[in-house]
Amino acid sequence: MFCARRVFRCFKTLERWGDRITGAAGPYFVGLAVILISTGVVCFFDVIARDLSYPLISIPICILIATNLLAHYFYVCTVRPGFIDAPPAEAGKSILWAKGHADRGKGKGRIRRLTALGGSSGVEWSTELRITPASLTQCRRCGLQRPERTHHCKICNRCVLKYDHHCPVSLLILWINQCVGLHNERHFVLFMVYLVLATFCFSILGYPHLMDSLGLYYKPWVYNVPEIAFALTYVLAVVLCLAVGIMLLYHLYSISNGETAVEAQDHTEYRDRAKRRQEEFVNSYDLGRMKNLQLFFNIGENGYPLYTLFFPFRIMPYTDGRAWARREGYDKHHGVRAGEELTDEEEEEEEQ
Ligand SMILES: [Zn+2]
Ligand SMILES: [Zn+2]
Repeated sequence: MFCARRVFRCFKTLERWGDRITGAAGPYFVGLAVILISTGVVCFFDVIARDLSYPLISIPICILIATNLLAHYFYVCTVRPGFIDAPPAEAGKSILWAKGHADRGKGKGRIRRLTALGGSSGVEWSTELRITPASLTQCRRCGLQRPERTHHCKICNRCVLKYDHHCPVSLLILWINQCVGLHNERHFVLFMVYLVLATFCFSILGYPHLMDSLGLYYKPWVYNVPEIAFALTYVLAVVLCLAVGIMLLYHLYSISNGETAVEAQDHTEYRDRAKRRQEEFVNSYDLGRMKNLQLFFNIGENGYPLYTLFFPFRIMPYTDGRAWARREGYDKHHGVRAGEELTDEEEEEEEQ
């Protein structure tokens, strides 16, 4: 795993450099990303989709992937990550919002709001989950009281619930131009999932057409998209599939450990310190790989049905960011001594 961590770290560093270089021009890049994704979709449906076998099944599946890709990109750019000074987010009533098991009266039907108006006591969310209120600290930059897992974003200059990272640009293509946090992290990961899926299909199914577009098969080019545009889009799709695929694995690995991107770094530090004292670091948000993934996507009992992963629905996270599900027997991380917790400033220094 050590080697994999190094590869991920290397990619993270590349990503951060990309962020810095293109950060200032964020909004323009969002526009460019929309154009590039749309070009890919047009190339696919104009060229590749025409020759697909079993079109009655394969075309609807391709349309579903493209719809999810565009919708999650739209959501991740427009859904606010959850600022600490903004009013609590509520589920919407439109058809874009999926109904949870609790809304439909299935499951245990517990109320989803965990800490009404600042809340005090922990709420038993289900028989198998123990959710306790987050401890509060004061942000040194904006002076607000904030629950654990909140971090101050230097670029947005606000405190963000379950802050993951600020994303002007990831890998020079995923232009988000805002923070990824509690309310849009699921869209961010699903966007990457559908981008990898879409570019993978493009790379595999489009290979014979690439040869056509390069004139290698001497077959006439009968499509509306120019050959050169198709060939360039194909190359971009292959590169993205590999690059975003590695980023996606890194994110899924962190999620399955019950960590955000910031916490994955902090916990490495805590783990090393605990090890030097011959102690073991235990992440109290880690409920086991399966449960961590379920909570992140908020599916399963008391959450939303599995199909919400396959359609571009909006859903609420399992928590309001002011209470967290904890591992049995742990109210806080084990192996971190008082005063050892990394602050936003130290995290930034570490990132330099
Ligand atoms: Zn702050
Ligand atoms: Zn930000």
